[in-house]
Amino acid sequence: MICVGIARGRHRHVIAEQKFLAENGIGLVELRLDFIQGKIQVKRLFRDRPCPAIATCRRVSDGGHWAGTEEERQLVLRTAIVEGAAYVDLEDDIAGQVRRYGPTKRIVSHHDFQKTPADLAVLQRRLADMDADIVKIATMANHPSDNLRMLEMVQAATVPTIGICMGDIGMPTRVLTGRFGAPFTYATFHEDRLLAPGQIGWRQMRDVYRYDAVGKATKVYGVVADPVGHSLSPVVHNAALAAAGIDAVYLPFRVPAEQLDEFIWEAARWPLAGLSVTIPHKESILRHVTTRDDLVNAIGATNTLSFSGDSITAHNTDAAAAVESLEKALREQGEAGLVDVTGVNNALVLGAGGAARAVAFALRKRGVEVTVCSRTVERARRIAAEVGCKAIDWTARYKLPHACIVNATPVGMHPLVNETPFEKEHLRPYMVVFDTVYNPENTLLVKEARATGCRIVTGVDMFVRQAAIQFRHWHGVEPSEQVMREALKRATASAKLPT
Ligand code: NAP
Repeated sequence: MICVGIARGRHRHVIAEQKFLAENGIGLVELRLDFIQGKIQVKRLFRDRPCPAIATCRRVSDGGHWAGTEEERQLVLRTAIVEGAAYVDLEDDIAGQVRRYGPTKRIVSHHDFQKTPADLAVLQRRLADMDADIVKIATMANHPSDNLRMLEMVQAATVPTIGICMGDIGMPTRVLTGRFGAPFTYATFHEDRLLAPGQIGWRQMRDVYRYDAVGKATKVYGVVADPVGHSLSPVVHNAALAAAGIDAVYLPFRVPAEQLDEFIWEAARWPLAGLSVTIPHKESILRHVTTRDDLVNAIGATNTLSFSGDSITAHNTDAAAAVESLEKALREQGEAGLVDVTGVNNALVLGAGGAARAVAFALRKRGVEVTVCSRTVERARRIAAEVGCKAIDWTARYKLPHACIVNATPVGMHPLVNETPFEKEHLRPYMVVFDTVYNPENTLLVKEARATGCRIVTGVDMFVRQAAIQFRHWHGVEPSEQVMREALKRATASAKLPT
């Protein structure tokens, strides 16, 4: 069950939001009484409501807004109990002062905005002993292993316990707490109105992460990165999992570089079945891998791990995705005869990072003559030496004509959407233009190439393809690329785009 926090200043807004949520199938709300401006009309908020409600009134020291005295606050909570609130949230330091009354259930809670304490089990037992029907512990995660300690504490608890880690490192616990036995999780009414760090909106919890479908047998996948908040992989993979009816969930794991080793050592405790790997871990994570495919060996980087028992297999789906999306575009937009990359004699790859390396390698392998062009020419030279191609300086990119231009730099990505790595005057209708940037899909380069009459491959084509190949590695079936593409487009249209 998802409990949605309602934090509004006016009674009528609280009531309207609760009605809206109940009509949308939400079975429990938390009314944050500390947000109400002026005198709180407790009876109006708790009598005859459309779904059960928790009465919560947080002090500033617990992350709340309560501006009155402590005596007044406890009076508000007692009144909510008398008025029939389904639950009352009592912080551990006052739980002993507010006695059980009537059918109202007691949530005894503890918050720590700095850290996750070492002795979670001891803390849980202390809270449970305060006549708790439910224990709630919310602490800041500073390390991915804080999440595991929290979830394992929930699993071992004999009194129903909700354990959540705050912050973006802690986000997976919000989705998985129920899998480990929590009676419900918390989400916000709106993504923009966060009540605690790392919270997510109820629609995302319900529709993207399918919280209510996550159970003990649900397999856990995710993307490991730092930062990870901007990643669109969870949206794409979860949509495909839902469409395919697979009992699995895909989560964002923010893991700083110095915590990566421990995260991988502890993989079985989540338990992780597969990971997408992105910046900054694509190369360093290889030290944990037991098996690698040829592409990983050749490129020296992975974007996909599969876990099975003690073995960890690494794949690289970026390279295959680049060539496959290029070929698809040639088939769909090409003239007769030009249906695969072997029809493209030569390609100019802009950039010399991980994406450029994967694309250069894949094209080279298919016999395309590749030139890598980079702002930092030494990086281009390194790729050239590894994959057997040419390297040129950034300023030389217009000197020779190329049949295919690949942008593997972030130029044109949100928010710098008015920039292009390859000026319009140098585009020619015979060119295939492949922009790996997917946010937005229609970059300035893509728009100008389209206007010139070039054939186009977008970053969305590649992103969806690499995710689809990952999906096949993990689940053994082809996902619906249409579903993935639509989920990606919805997310980029509605999300606050990354900077
Ligand atoms: P990366 O390793 O950081 O490499 C970025 C490359 O772009 C570097 O060579 C960098 O040059 C160059 N660059 C950055 N800003 C530039 C500028 N203003 N002008 C010229 N060159 C510039 O990143 P990556 O992992 O390769 O990713 C690069 C881009 O590829 C991403 O931004 C993403 O949009 C795209 N990508 C797409 C997919 C997909 O599935 N569609 C997958 C992976 C990546 P310096 O070395 O001089 O800094």
